[in-house]
Amino acid sequence: MSLEERVALITGSSRGIGRAIALELAKNGCRVALNYFNAGPNEKEAREVVELIKENGGQAEAFSADVTQSHEVEAMARQVIEHFGRVDILVNNAGITRDSLLLRMKEDDWDRVLETNLKGTYNCAKYVLKFMMKQRYGRIVNIASVVGIMGNAGQTNYAASKAGVIGFTKSLAREVASRNITVNAVAPGFIDTSMTGELSEDARQVLLRQIPLQRLGTPEDVARLVGFLVSDYAAYITGQTIAVDGGMVMN
Ligand code: NAP
Repeated sequence: MSLEERVALITGSSRGIGRAIALELAKNGCRVALNYFNAGPNEKEAREVVELIKENGGQAEAFSADVTQSHEVEAMARQVIEHFGRVDILVNNAGITRDSLLLRMKEDDWDRVLETNLKGTYNCAKYVLKFMMKQRYGRIVNIASVVGIMGNAGQTNYAASKAGVIGFTKSLAREVASRNITVNAVAPGFIDTSMTGELSEDARQVLLRQIPLQRLGTPEDVARLVGFLVSDYAAYITGQTIAVDGGMVMN
């Protein structure tokens, strides 16, 4: 799975699944551009990941941007190119939830989730693709969710955003295949991160009953699939949505 000489930009990589993806790609020899959102604790966390990668002999740098803001994303893409000279891999991982039943859902909760999860994916793909097209090489992985495939009560905004990411993935894969750029989506099930950390013990038990492998996933379970999809082993795979969910969704 060697990624020597490759450069990857991973959004929302100060913690959770994004952090695990950054560490996995670095382990495979990739130079890693981390992205964090808020200045403050997340910058510190992102810099800790940078240091961890460097301590293990890798190369990494952290870049700030709110993925919902196109001018910030454009500036980040430029900074990554200035720093590393190229960008081969984009992982659109940044994402949020703002859950409630539709009748109680505030317009701002709808907008914020769609802006982060779907428009953020559009912004990052657009500004990074410019460089990939010139290089005639690229690997884009969009982090969707099984909720975008099967739906989930209380998550109409999140499900719509992740189903949108899946449609976006298929269309973009068709647009850029002739330039040797693959675009795939990964659909995690329930993964043990701060996003699922607030579940009560009862809710956790109900969830576990839906998972044939009978455990929540780890960020590393997702990261290893991403590591495969951005490697040369996956050169002939594009436009796919691959679930990593302990068997929740079986196609
Ligand atoms: P997490 O621990 O809450 O991390 C989310 C990351 O996204 C954070 O680093 C956060 O940065 C970043 N982010 C949020 N808004 C951003 C913005 N506007 N600009 C840049 N970065 C932003 O969540 P996670 O569980 O690792 O989730 C990662 C991805 O996996 C998300 O797309 C999520 O929808 C998807 N997913 C998760 C699960 C699960 O069970 N955990 C299941 C399916 C799919 P800050 O720290 O700065 O806020």
